[in-house]
Amino acid sequence: MRALALAGAVAGAGCQAERPKPAPTKVAAEPEQPIPEPAPEPAPEPKPARARFDVHVHLVSDAVDPLLATLDRAGIQRAVVLASPHLDPAHLPDQSERFADWRGANDRLLELSAGHRDRLVPFITADPAEARPEELRAWFDAGACGVKLYMGHRSFHARPLADEAHRPMFSTLERERVPVLLHINTFRFEAELGELLASYPELNLLCPHFCGSRTDVERLERILAAHPGLLVDTSHGPGKPGVQGFTALELERERVRALILAEPERFLFGSDLVTSMVEQREDIARFEWDRQVQANLGLLEADRFEFNRLVGEHGVMEWSEYRGLALDDATLGPVLAGNAERWLASCLDE
Ligand SMILES: [Zn+2]
Repeated sequence: MRALALAGAVAGAGCQAERPKPAPTKVAAEPEQPIPEPAPEPAPEPKPARARFDVHVHLVSDAVDPLLATLDRAGIQRAVVLASPHLDPAHLPDQSERFADWRGANDRLLELSAGHRDRLVPFITADPAEARPEELRAWFDAGACGVKLYMGHRSFHARPLADEAHRPMFSTLERERVPVLLHINTFRFEAELGELLASYPELNLLCPHFCGSRTDVERLERILAAHPGLLVDTSHGPGKPGVQGFTALELERERVRALILAEPERFLFGSDLVTSMVEQREDIARFEWDRQVQANLGLLEADRFEFNRLVGEHGVMEWSEYRGLALDDATLGPVLAGNAERWLASCLDE
């Protein structure tokens, strides 16, 4: 159980918060929930054969083979894998300095993905005030395709996004049109996103989780209108913010569908899978990962999909059915794969 609590706490700190944390009484029990024993599950319904490219996977626990098997089961051919030093139970540094080993995490990611570059597209990470252009260049030369930044997460927000201390890094990323996946809590930092793109208008930027605006579609509409070159991903993690995201999007289903149908080239499928292993229990990992990937695919492809939902006044997680967006094939083509291929074109093998 301790390992699970750790993995849960660490994963929860990842790519999540969109709004201030709710009262602790409601969440206290969450990481303590028992590990569900994987039932002999019916195989998930086979998805129609389509090109699928997941732009948001945190590769941790050195779990390359289990990840590839999970992608296979979901009919996903390729995935962006993100360096995630603070989420990795297998290489977790001192808790007080959770991000300290970001350079080591980059080297590990490139090594882990080296034999699978036809399927796994590595994104390094960086401390934005520390990253030197020449070391970024060395990682790109070693096969890194893009950069994942966590500085828009309030846990990692040391200074404004467009702070002068970040200029060497952002100037390099902009000049070389490097794909950048920048987590931004737009509840808090929407104005800073504007300042960043005003300073670096050619930044090749993707803002995940519907740009942190799943629970406020009006904010999403405003951000998309203000920044016509900005891309967003549709990913939802396993924790409370992800569940709240699925719930909110269901309530605004027609409005969200209309946004995607109006500009399908700006929305990219992602799962926000964190491949953390709990006590090396690959069967449990497989069960949980499949659920999350299937839900994120279901949101886009299906009329109905299943995931946890928060119910009751104490916010207990309950497995539930959701209404999906059921996008048509002409829209799913770019959203599931075509947009990712275009975004990452400079580093994909033909
Ligand atoms: Zn994430």
